[in-house]
Amino acid sequence: MSDHAPPAPSTETSSAAHGADDDLLVLIEDDGDVIASPSITHNAWQILVVDDDADVHQATDMALRDLLIEGRPLYIHHAYSRQEAFALVQAHDDIAVMLLDVVMESEDAGLQLVGEVRHKLGREALRIVLRTGQPGYAPELETIRNYDINDYRTKSELTRVRLFTSLTTALRAYRQMRTHEQTRRGLEMVVRASTELSKLHGMQLFAEGVVNQLCALLGMRPEGLICAQAGLENSGDPARVIAAAGHYGELIQRPLDELGIPSVQAALEQCLRERRSLFAQGMVLYFATSDGRGLAAYIDHPDDLPPLDRHLVEVFCSSMSAGFENVLLYGRLVDQAYVDPLLRIANLNQFLQQLSRLTVAPTPLTVGVLDIDGFTSINDMLGHEFGDNVLRAVSTRLHDGLGPHCHIARISADVFAALGPSQEVSGDTLQHLFSTPLQVSGQSVRISVTIGLVRLDEHEERGPDLLKDAHLALKRAKLQQRGSTCYFSEEMGHAARARMQLLNSLRAATGSPQLFAVYQPKVDLQTGQAIGMEALLRWRQPDGTMVPPDQFIPVAEQAGLMMVLGTFVMHNACTQLKRLHDMGFTELTMAINVSQVQLREPDFIPLLANTLAETDVRPDAVELEITESMAAEDINLIRRRLEEIRALGLTVAIDDFGTGFSSLSVLRHLPAARLKIDRSFVAELDRDVSIARMVVNLGHSQGMKVIAEGIETEAQRNTLLALGCDEGQGWLYGKPMLPNDLVTWLQGNLHH
Ligand code: C2E
Ligand code: CA
Ligand code: CA
Repeated sequence: MSDHAPPAPSTETSSAAHGADDDLLVLIEDDGDVIASPSITHNAWQILVVDDDADVHQATDMALRDLLIEGRPLYIHHAYSRQEAFALVQAHDDIAVMLLDVVMESEDAGLQLVGEVRHKLGREALRIVLRTGQPGYAPELETIRNYDINDYRTKSELTRVRLFTSLTTALRAYRQMRTHEQTRRGLEMVVRASTELSKLHGMQLFAEGVVNQLCALLGMRPEGLICAQAGLENSGDPARVIAAAGHYGELIQRPLDELGIPSVQAALEQCLRERRSLFAQGMVLYFATSDGRGLAAYIDHPDDLPPLDRHLVEVFCSSMSAGFENVLLYGRLVDQAYVDPLLRIANLNQFLQQLSRLTVAPTPLTVGVLDIDGFTSINDMLGHEFGDNVLRAVSTRLHDGLGPHCHIARISADVFAALGPSQEVSGDTLQHLFSTPLQVSGQSVRISVTIGLVRLDEHEERGPDLLKDAHLALKRAKLQQRGSTCYFSEEMGHAARARMQLLNSLRAATGSPQLFAVYQPKVDLQTGQAIGMEALLRWRQPDGTMVPPDQFIPVAEQAGLMMVLGTFVMHNACTQLKRLHDMGFTELTMAINVSQVQLREPDFIPLLANTLAETDVRPDAVELEITESMAAEDINLIRRRLEEIRALGLTVAIDDFGTGFSSLSVLRHLPAARLKIDRSFVAELDRDVSIARMVVNLGHSQGMKVIAEGIETEAQRNTLLALGCDEGQGWLYGKPMLPNDLVTWLQGNLHH
């Protein structure tokens, strides 16, 4: 205890002595002056003296004067009656010890007060030291237990030294109980907080919620909070403010190093770096997360927190870390749903969301879809890793080339989408972006893109329909030429609706006699003798109009009807072939067109084997025609299929040769027996024979037979013969016919 003059304990009431009580005289050491102080210093222990005898108050003040207990001063409240004491306890929830006279206005006024304090006010931690003037009087042991009375003294024992030990014991007990109480209360709040918060989505809400709860816990207003999250490791992303409250509100999303408040920034950085809570200036709490990023929450706090509160806060933080963890997980799920994993830009979902959230914009907007031309070949020939790098380069080019007001997304493998002001998202701007080569894996790569666009101010559609329209325009652009651009027009919308109608009627026609197969003869060019025929599908609508297969087959492919139609043709063709064989035309072969959709279908080979078995035809008399462009799509799958087809004993012909883009090396790897010169080249023969000659030579060099289709004139036949073409097909010989007409034709042809 200090010997030099420290301040006297403050008192609420300074009262004159009512008359000397001998017992108490020992307590009064010197002049008895009492200095009144109106305020309770913030860390003083609060003691309440309850006695109806003013001398006792004064004596106690004297005895406790200048005392420090556990380093903290005392503040003494005075009450002279049960009622007065009750009011004081009610008004001050941190009174730690009550020195209580048992006998006051009534025999048991003191004990009644104890009952009220414990039960009415619920003050469990408040320690009570009973004092009585009559040494003979002692409360029942039971009373002591029931009321949780800390100590019992006669007034004669209240010397400075005795008071000091008694109070020290009582204050320690009080502090322990308060800690216990507060921790329990804190934990209750944490539990409540975590269940309440689990309903909140999004890191920001969560962070704000946590801080709100925390501030409630510490009895602070949720003012002055910044919550920062470290960037992903190795991502180069800076730490960012993910939540901010009170006067820091506008800092949300700001990179930590642009916070503009050096001391707070330093504290947050230190917390994230050292991965622990700091209680120095302000308070920075660390929330560990399993991905190692961690979160730091800075809270303005004027003073150091007492150790008890620190402990609470730490318990809170570790409990909340689990909650943060959940929110991070949720964030990752959202991320997976809305972000392209390869390019870290928006995916289709997010783009659709952006489209659906469009509000009236100050400038006209345009939506564009960009298809990278020949991307499949890039992937196939240069490898997927290279392909990925091409996509990255395209994404970067778009990102850098378009302004900050544009959204870009990858909406399918090699299709990007852009949304932004019409001036920026325009055919010219976008095409210009790709007019210079990309840098990919240290190489210069020139790519072209085909683009479909929709001007929002010119059309009514919104949301997903916008993207549909952009795709229509893209499709139109692809039909025109790769590398071109097309804006959506209402006429395209009409065309799309017409296709829908066509599709509906085709669905209805499937399985009905509206659909049937016709057969066109194929002949030996030298002799003109029939060698076989090609099955071609026909659709006659109820009103008699014929819909050309060039029109309905693409629709059937898209609508998933092609397997049904293809199987139908295959079955009919094989049945007719069997019939012809049985009639004695044993040398004839049947060519059947197979769409890419059919070939990709895993069921295709079993279906084919089944049809052959059911119709009982010789497999070597059946030839499947696949188009050249198909071979360019997925060479490995196609090659596998063709080998399976050959394993069944069938042959394969490559149709429309010369119109596609397949490289000659690709052709070399396809196990085909026949090349078909497309009829467009046959029609051109009088002007240009070079392509036909090339196809003939190419086919022969690979050991294939070459057949020309669409021969309409004698001149065309002669030219083809001169070029060395083996076989022919066309109106010059016969049009596609119904089975019975074919039989008649064959009889005339072969008995010639
Ligand atoms: P393609 O396989 O190239 O069929 C040859 C087309 O040329 C047929 O048209 C045929 O009628 C026509 N043609 C034959 N000789 C001549 C001629 O001398 N002059 C002219 N101008 N044309 C001639 P079609 O029947 O309209 O078929 C068009 C396309 O539809 C076919 O082209 C084929 O790609 C597809 N297709 C037809 N039937 C089927 C089928 O059953 N399955 C599949 N997957 N596609 C089919
Ligand atoms: Ca064909
Ligand atoms: Ca053809």
